[in-house]
Amino acid sequence: MPTYVNPDKCDGCKALDRPACHHICPTDLMVLDKALGKAYNREPDQCWECYACVKVCPQTAIDMRGYADVVPLGASLAPLRGTDSIMWTVKFRDGQTKRFKYPIRTTAWGSIEPQKYSPTPGSEELKNQLLCGEPKWLMVDQLPVLSKN
Ligand code: SF4
Ligand code: SF4
Repeated sequence: MPTYVNPDKCDGCKALDRPACHHICPTDLMVLDKALGKAYNREPDQCWECYACVKVCPQTAIDMRGYADVVPLGASLAPLRGTDSIMWTVKFRDGQTKRFKYPIRTTAWGSIEPQKYSPTPGSEELKNQLLCGEPKWLMVDQLPVLSKN
């Protein structure tokens, strides 16, 4: 089920040109209405339901239309992201509320060296069809190839 923005909660990421939901959406669906200062999902039919925008929104303004077997009859599921954890608040149909907190990282902010294990490729590596780290990170000696015969 696609996401939607609650305009009462959205602050447009305080008028940033590319608000957080816009920046993170892999399908480029979240856009900012600059006149209103509110974001919206411009093409819900194309939403992958990855919920990256739901988790990243600092105002918890993005909600998801729950699947009928998960959140029917008024139940809801809402995340609240902190700097080191994410708290999911689950409201059940019978009125119960439960919260589940999960860590979102295991390393200190700024401590990761993204290129540490992937040195800059040389010109020969750029020409071949393997992706960075293949086949080493797939833990095989070589990738299987299709035979023409
Ligand atoms: S991330 Fe949240 S607050 Fe920021 S523009 Fe998107 S919906 Fe609005
Ligand atoms: S759920 Fe994923 S695909 Fe859908 S609008 Fe949000 S970030 Fe984009």
